[in-house]
Amino acid sequence: MNKIKTIQEDRCAFCGRTRLDVDLLIRGESAFICDECAEQAHDIIQEERKNKFIPQNHGGHEIKKPVEIKQFLDQYVIGQDEAKKYLAVAVYNHYKRLSRKGERDDVEIEKSNIILVGRTGTGKTLLARTIAKMLHVPFTIVDATVLTEAGYVGEDIESILTRLLQAADYDTEAAERGIVFIDELDKIARKGDNPSITRDVSGEGVQQGLLKLLEGSVVNVPPQGGRKHPDQKMIPVNTKDILFICGGAFDGIEQKIARRLNTRVVGFNAGKETDKVDRDNLLQYIAPQDLKAFGLIPEIIGRLPVLTYLEPLDKNALRDILTEPKNAITRQYIKLFAIDNIQLTFDEEVLDYIVDKAIEYKLGARGLRSICEAIMTDLMFETPSRDCHAITITKEYATTKLDKAHTLKLGA
Ligand code: ADP
Repeated sequence: MNKIKTIQEDRCAFCGRTRLDVDLLIRGESAFICDECAEQAHDIIQEERKNKFIPQNHGGHEIKKPVEIKQFLDQYVIGQDEAKKYLAVAVYNHYKRLSRKGERDDVEIEKSNIILVGRTGTGKTLLARTIAKMLHVPFTIVDATVLTEAGYVGEDIESILTRLLQAADYDTEAAERGIVFIDELDKIARKGDNPSITRDVSGEGVQQGLLKLLEGSVVNVPPQGGRKHPDQKMIPVNTKDILFICGGAFDGIEQKIARRLNTRVVGFNAGKETDKVDRDNLLQYIAPQDLKAFGLIPEIIGRLPVLTYLEPLDKNALRDILTEPKNAITRQYIKLFAIDNIQLTFDEEVLDYIVDKAIEYKLGARGLRSICEAIMTDLMFETPSRDCHAITITKEYATTKLDKAHTLKLGA
């Protein structure tokens, strides 16, 4: 009798219904929740999570202003002020546009996909990655070289969205506000300025396919990637609000820029124009027509309205990359050793030496890490088993380690 009474008295702390009115009552420390309220709570959590993906202009969640976005990027990326500025404005406008969605207005703000041109290892991927980190949106990097037209060996264009879906844990709405970084866009340029008459499986065809994504359309995406096959269940993804950032080295585009600048000399104001041209860094004058001359189709160029460039990294920039960013390479080693209670320091000379070697091997910023690894590996192997509390890396030590580490291998 007593037991029946207690069962009848157990109530959901949210809706007040008793055990007899619901299918399931879950017992907590000092209260109960029924199955329906638990389900509702779950829905609310899901909804909140989705909202987190889009910075709203209310509820204390301000969209970061361009200056703040740049300041954030400054913590991780050295130099590249021009690219940072363009990126900050484009991202700001993109999210402003999203936050105004649904408002009735005649002026529709268009999406501002971005193209970053600069030598490899100058920070294109790092910039895109850092932006995504700041925005807490699903982010994926794809390599344009693996993409081919449907039906050929390689990956379908839709696989780009498969990766984004995976990054978003298959939350389609979140993915639809994500960022995709397409690396090596230059590799799908068509060879030559004229449309080719032969089949161009990995060039123009892929650009046409990509266009569909960039313009914004509903694309059926195979959830597991790979080739599409008839009985696979597809997930429709709308790419209208996905921000695409493309990167590429566009080797040799300087010649096209130079040619264009020279032709201007013939026009009026001749002479004066060219006097000002900084021949050592022609990339700063890059314009959409240079991309066309390189082999991108005009439609693609039109869908990438924000065009900016990255500077080649000089000695000072490389030196800063070693020590300045929040997760700079030397800081990472210092942290790794600190976990073993070892205080690690680098002599100033060593840092210059590492930079010189990276330049000598023509490895740029990418080489800094492999050079550091070659210097540090033996220490990371031995010291955890030794009784040692402080280590200083000297130039002498670094030189012997690097010499030993088959310089040829590193320089290759
Ligand atoms: P890209 O995409 O231009 O080929 P990445 O962004 O992948 O080059 O750069 C490779 C690595 O070099 C990065 O992970 C980073 O460690 C370092 N790096 C390159 N450029 C910079 C930079 N401007 N500031 C800080 N680190 C950089």
